[in-house]
Amino acid sequence: MSPGREDGPEFDHPTEKCGVVGVSLAERDAAFPTYYALYALQHRGQESAGIVTHDGFQQHQHVEMGLVGDAFDESDIEELVGSAGIGHVRYPTAGSVDKSCAQPFSVSFKGGALGLSHNGNLVNADEIRDDLASSGHAFTSDGDTEVIAHDLARNLLDEDLVAAVETTMHRVHGSYSLTIMHDDTVLGVRDPLGNRPLVLGELDDGYVLASESAAIDTLGGELVRDVRPGELVVLHEDGEGYDSHQLVEAENTANCFFEYVYFARPDSVIDDELVYEVRRELGRQLWAENGVDTDVVMPVPDSGRAFASGYAEAGQNDGATVEFAEGLMKNRYVGRTFIMPTQEAREQAVRLKLNPIKSTVEGRTVTVIDDSIVRGTTSSQLVDLLYEAGAEEVHVRIGAPPISAPCYMGIDMATRDELIAADKTASEIADEIGADSLSYLSLDAVTTAIGRSQADLCAGCVTGEYPYDIPGEATDREIERPAEAPADD
Ligand code: AMP
Repeated sequence: MSPGREDGPEFDHPTEKCGVVGVSLAERDAAFPTYYALYALQHRGQESAGIVTHDGFQQHQHVEMGLVGDAFDESDIEELVGSAGIGHVRYPTAGSVDKSCAQPFSVSFKGGALGLSHNGNLVNADEIRDDLASSGHAFTSDGDTEVIAHDLARNLLDEDLVAAVETTMHRVHGSYSLTIMHDDTVLGVRDPLGNRPLVLGELDDGYVLASESAAIDTLGGELVRDVRPGELVVLHEDGEGYDSHQLVEAENTANCFFEYVYFARPDSVIDDELVYEVRRELGRQLWAENGVDTDVVMPVPDSGRAFASGYAEAGQNDGATVEFAEGLMKNRYVGRTFIMPTQEAREQAVRLKLNPIKSTVEGRTVTVIDDSIVRGTTSSQLVDLLYEAGAEEVHVRIGAPPISAPCYMGIDMATRDELIAADKTASEIADEIGADSLSYLSLDAVTTAIGRSQADLCAGCVTGEYPYDIPGEATDREIERPAEAPADD
């Protein structure tokens, strides 16, 4: 079971928090560009990596547990022939996760070969799985992706590609950015609310779809645009162009604000906003709302860096004397502290990962800036470390509002009872982590910095109200959830 899913009855399977890629080239094999793009998206998933290609006759696949660099060797990539390819990196979840959940998911059926990479999380996967299983579909995993693949395969038996995708989009409810390969045709689909990012890029000899624009940069390509919420993009097999089909229109979007705050790379552009600039603006807003003029302001590397530089800049513009400095060094060989199974291991891992630079801290008042507090492990360890290194005062500033509810849409947060802000105020949390003061950013400041109204963002982990119909949770929208069984069954 994945952390964060225990509160919802339908979420007792591993959820997908991932990076996806799709490549269609004129003649060159797609495998190496797909591999490099996955490398650029490694931060979106470290548990498994996979590529499926098609050479016009048959599919080839290589899917392994582990980091991209460990999952493939040169010969694996050379065997992935064909100028069409999709790829996937999967986010780590606690609990037992094995290769059956690794992606891309691929299947051969009467209507051809299908490969599918998914980032997001469906709300009604179990209903669809039960329905498909009762009509003879055999499942090899308990993930959402296989449900989408089987539903699509069924539709492809009597509909063309575009109509089949449209039927599936009307059936599934939840968050999904998909790259799909049907024989050697590569497609990209973004859910009607655009919860997870997906972009389209142009290469010299083809087109690429990827979770983030940094992957397109890595391939030396040009960002064309975001795939629109509810849109299907079909890349031409000859690498010469693409078709767009707006299959579902929704009144509002539900872009995940946490992509901007933490998850996405700062050098990526999501829905026309450069993530780094959004984070700097969040830092400026943090100063405007609750700035404190200490001797020094320092980021928690790497996630707090852009926030801290915006914060310091705003402070200095306001006449504060606060100096921006690196006061914490990161051991870059330690993985994300989140995947540690026990609280004790998580605490040890913070010390493995971060060490104070004494000269920045000793005898000084300090403000330390991070993007978010989830369980509170990082900040309470950090405050201790900074005092041990001789800080006189430690103030904590956080570039997001309090995370007080689980994420059901694909970001691994924690269960409600693990979230430190679920039942505590900021000053109670300040006491618990031992800081002289603690301030979060308001949700209004977040919406201003992203440049979108709250009605177009998903902030369920902050408000506890979700833009999807999640059993047992409140919603902030009028939602039409698809009927349990398709009309024609
Ligand atoms: P915690 O220590 O539980 O309070 O988690 C907060 C720290 O984890 C911050 O430094 C964040 O940058 C980072 N973080 C926030 N959300 C996630 C996530 N979904 N996965 C991994 N790390 C995260």
